[in-house]
Amino acid sequence: MLRAVLGRVCSRVTQVPVAVQVARFSAAAIPAPNPKPDVPYTQLFINNEFQDAVSKKTFPTINPSTGEVICHVAEADKADVDKAVRAAREAFNLGSPWRRMDASQRGVLINRLADLIERDRTILATLETLDNGKPYAMAYTVDLDIVLKCLRYYAGWADKWHGKTIPIDGDYFAYTRHEPVGVCAQIIPWNFPLVMLAWKFGPALATGNVIVMKVAEQTPLTALHLASLVKEAGFPPGVINILPGMGHTAGAALSSHMDVDKVAFTGSTEVGRLIQQAAGKSNLKKVTLELGGKSPNIIFSDSDLDWAVEQAHFALFFNQGQACASGTRTFVQEDIYNEFVERSVHRAKKRIIGNPFDLKTDPSTVDEEQFKKILGYIKTGKQEGAKLLCGGNPAADRGYFIQPTVFGDVSDNMTIAREEIFGPVMQILKFKTLEDVIERANNTMYGLAAAVFTNDIDKANYVSQSLRAGTVWINCYNVIGPQAPFGGYKASGIGRELGEYGLEAYTEVKNVTIKIPQKNS
Ligand code: NAP
Ligand code: MG
Repeated sequence: MLRAVLGRVCSRVTQVPVAVQVARFSAAAIPAPNPKPDVPYTQLFINNEFQDAVSKKTFPTINPSTGEVICHVAEADKADVDKAVRAAREAFNLGSPWRRMDASQRGVLINRLADLIERDRTILATLETLDNGKPYAMAYTVDLDIVLKCLRYYAGWADKWHGKTIPIDGDYFAYTRHEPVGVCAQIIPWNFPLVMLAWKFGPALATGNVIVMKVAEQTPLTALHLASLVKEAGFPPGVINILPGMGHTAGAALSSHMDVDKVAFTGSTEVGRLIQQAAGKSNLKKVTLELGGKSPNIIFSDSDLDWAVEQAHFALFFNQGQACASGTRTFVQEDIYNEFVERSVHRAKKRIIGNPFDLKTDPSTVDEEQFKKILGYIKTGKQEGAKLLCGGNPAADRGYFIQPTVFGDVSDNMTIAREEIFGPVMQILKFKTLEDVIERANNTMYGLAAAVFTNDIDKANYVSQSLRAGTVWINCYNVIGPQAPFGGYKASGIGRELGEYGLEAYTEVKNVTIKIPQKNS
């Protein structure tokens, strides 16, 4: 099946210019996808060994562009979680190879993993496209680039994350040690499978933790290929364990496990609440959450209109709207509203839906559940009186494709202006004044990201200071680098990933106080 899909597309891939939104990458740099992507890694990865689930159960993983089964993957459940946690705990015990390893050597291992990912970049991008449906060109350039930069950034931190000396009162000397938290459960979603893995692996490994990761049921394949690279890179057994499986079984077993020290989660706010509850009811493990959003993107009439239209389009349609930081409430000042809407509709209509291995086309959404959920939101938008300006329907007779959709005349109380749709559906709202838009932008339970477009720097600074969001972009959108923190205010999460702040989330700070005897005492 894999070969058939790729056979049809790969001859075209090298010839067609890349319609990737992120302009920094050139088509010439993208090799054709691997024509024969074997999928040899379909089992759980525990203690550096691939193995079946204790129950021997498997589940199918689906190519969302065709709706067909790619292969079957071992399904972890509680018994496998117990096994993986035991392996991780053993790897974390004092005296183990991992705990005795120099911090600089941890950095070497993380860099070696990055080198192997780079070697297998084409295979990984191909598998990501098959399993997730995202365009191959984007997987190869954007996703893999973020993965490599993130791992290498954190490899550099491994021997530089140190404590302080503290002048406490009396004849004492105090210093802090930055110690790893321990066994870290990491539960990730399907929208950026490898990127989410790297964001969680990087800081956890740099600080000396051990990992049991549950990958999303929709997209297990790239993490399992990467597991083979973990072993090849030379990580000691048990340091990294990877479990494909379901959230309500394997995920729940991890978040309620008594021997897991921390759980780091990315996904829906609804599941984030369950994870925090499970942590509270079990051993009060540490929790970091990166959750949903309904991010405001504010376009003032003094902005560069061409740029603002393109960026607002990108803010929403990047990754088919399947991104937690998507700009899903586009607020446009009233004197440019009509022109902005007209241009946005024109821009959305230019998108071409089709095979994700064809570099000119837009992909499907990730699975039938998301597909139905998004179409449900479109129906609700129409029923509640928003004006459907383009799209609104399935875009193909197979696979989970949805037409690029734009709604105008959206008001704040409509469902599509309040809830996370996670699909290619743009909402454009009109505003009058700066004070008005700040209040409306903040009137949400979420606070992940926001953006403002204006050529007035004072206005930009005032608005960015007023917005309650973990990231504010000024005259740009979706600009994310491993050096800068990412995470949410309010119901968008707890804690930060990336940058130096990301290290804190994987660190226990130990204070050590020493008596210094004085000559005359
Ligand atoms: P989700 O249910 O929050 O899934 C995210 C991860 O959590 C997956 O690995 C999932 O496992 C796991 N999970 C589910 N229930 C769990 C539980 N009770 N305990 C522990 N882990 C659990 O998200 P989804 O169902 O994939 O998507 C639903 C909505 O979430 C989307 O429409 C979107 O609004 C939002 N979302 C947000 C992000 C983000 O980046 N913030 C990413 C994806 C989705 P399974 O593999 O079994 O699902
Ligand atoms: Mg899949």
